[in-house]
Amino acid sequence: PAWQKPFDKDKKTVVILGSGWAATSMLKNMDTEEYNVVLVSPRNYFLFTPLLPSVAVGTLEPRSVIQSTRYVARHKARRVSIYEAEALKVDPHAKQVTIADLSDIKGDVNNMTIPYDILVYAVGAETQTFGIPGVKEHSCFLKELPDAEKLRERVMDCIESAAFPDQSEAEVDRLMHMIVVGGGPTGVEFSGELHDFIKDDLRSWYPELADKLKITLVEALPNVLPMFSRELIQYTESTFKEQNIEVLTKTMVKEVKDKTVVVKNDKGQIEELPYGLLVWAAGNVSRPITRDLMAQLPQHQTNRRGLLVDDYLRLLGVNDVYAIGDCTATSYAPTAQVATQQGRYLARLLGQIAKKEELETKLAELRGERSGLPEGPEGKVKNNAEEIESVVKQLNKASKIRPFHYSHQGSLAYIGSDKAIADLPFFNGNFASGGVATFLFWRSAYVSSLFSLRNRTLVMSDWLKVKLFGRDVSRES
Ligand code: FAD
Ligand code: NAD
Repeated sequence: PAWQKPFDKDKKTVVILGSGWAATSMLKNMDTEEYNVVLVSPRNYFLFTPLLPSVAVGTLEPRSVIQSTRYVARHKARRVSIYEAEALKVDPHAKQVTIADLSDIKGDVNNMTIPYDILVYAVGAETQTFGIPGVKEHSCFLKELPDAEKLRERVMDCIESAAFPDQSEAEVDRLMHMIVVGGGPTGVEFSGELHDFIKDDLRSWYPELADKLKITLVEALPNVLPMFSRELIQYTESTFKEQNIEVLTKTMVKEVKDKTVVVKNDKGQIEELPYGLLVWAAGNVSRPITRDLMAQLPQHQTNRRGLLVDDYLRLLGVNDVYAIGDCTATSYAPTAQVATQQGRYLARLLGQIAKKEELETKLAELRGERSGLPEGPEGKVKNNAEEIESVVKQLNKASKIRPFHYSHQGSLAYIGSDKAIADLPFFNGNFASGGVATFLFWRSAYVSSLFSLRNRTLVMSDWLKVKLFGRDVSRES
């Protein structure tokens, strides 16, 4: 809009990398009066990841869970420059970032290096494969929106291929076997959503196949959802049993082949399980650009899990770079909750730093003015002294910079059959609940934390549509 202030060469430039939870929270809360802001991300939208498993089975439509980044920037005092591009390299010593447009359609200019005064590094993480052979080639991930869209297609493709005439029983069983690797919240939520799809829709449209669909959840540890309390783990495992979801704990995937997955089971034996669809949800790993940044700061960046930051979220080993969200290795779990609070904190911190610098300049000017004053009326000197005192007070306040403090609001997960689990902090203890009431709480908590009225309307109308007409089982491509 015309009222937005343009780029100001006298202000510092903050470059934000990413448009996920951390970067969007930062942008939303930032006062752009104080800085020029440039945001670079390969996707020009924010993705509400908690509802991504619902997109993968068609409970929600893809566009219901995304919001354009320009929408987030629309009310800012100063115009935010948003570039749809991927950062390829950060040079923290020269204070510049090389970015490139890697999308299908490119203009003549599609690669450049941009300078920054302050860098906010919020590129998230990618899915961990541990270098296990065949994972990248044969499995589906559940991290980004195109992953969920691909998954939805693949589920239907398996079912249609199983329905092909004269398919042998063994081949039908293989095609209808959906294996989910990783018993963290992503794997558990997707398994629950997939179960709902079978129960609610497959039975109506493919009655001859519905009973053939089998879901297996494979987890290397002794139980699923290690971040939840004991009783909720048991509740999830018993709910999965009722839903016919087989949970193979202490089972480690060793290799993924074209049509089978090789596992080492809880007895230490090697087994080969045939599958039609394999979903890989085995956690996070740093992106290549993050590993490259660490390699440039070898003395300080020594944690393979992610970037090390201090209590003020400053990257260790270099000035003027802040890192937030899943790209960091901190004592907190890599969650949207942490990323959001870090983004909000950093927005406030940069505002405070700008204020402090402004007051320091003002104080220097006032002091200079006072010392340079010729003999004159006493009143002016007195006024000046009062003003200095007031600026010093404000400066002392602005200089009190507090470290980042995370406040945990609880953990929530959907487990299928209109049931959810919640571990909520309650006074000094913990309140654990699971079931249908928790599901209603889960839905209302997520609807209220969606970023816009548009998203809330779309998500609620998708839920209503599914209730009335079921999920759409037609394939789009
Ligand atoms: P992201 O949100 O992943 O954002 C990273 C951004 O960086 C993206 O915009 C990406 O396009 C961009 N980017 C990538 N590479 C580059 C590059 N080279 N240059 C510039 N930009 C780049 N957490 C919860 O607390 N509650 C939940 O219920 C929950 N549910 C989840 C469900 C699923 C299916 C998944 C996958 C995760 C879930 N999480 C949940 C975890 C949560 O999504 C992450 O912790 C959160 O997304 C981290 O935020 P982030 O900003 O660090 O990373
Ligand atoms: P995760 O790291 O939480 O879980 C991955 C699981 O995969 C682990 O339990 C691990 O033991 C298992 N695994 C790894 N390699 C394996 C192998 N070869 N064979 C068998 N099992 C293997 O990953 P996630 O579920 O994607 O979650 C990532 C982050 O996002 C976490 O911090 C999580 O809390 C957060 N998240 C939260 C929610 C929620 O709050 N509802 C939902 C999704 C994700």
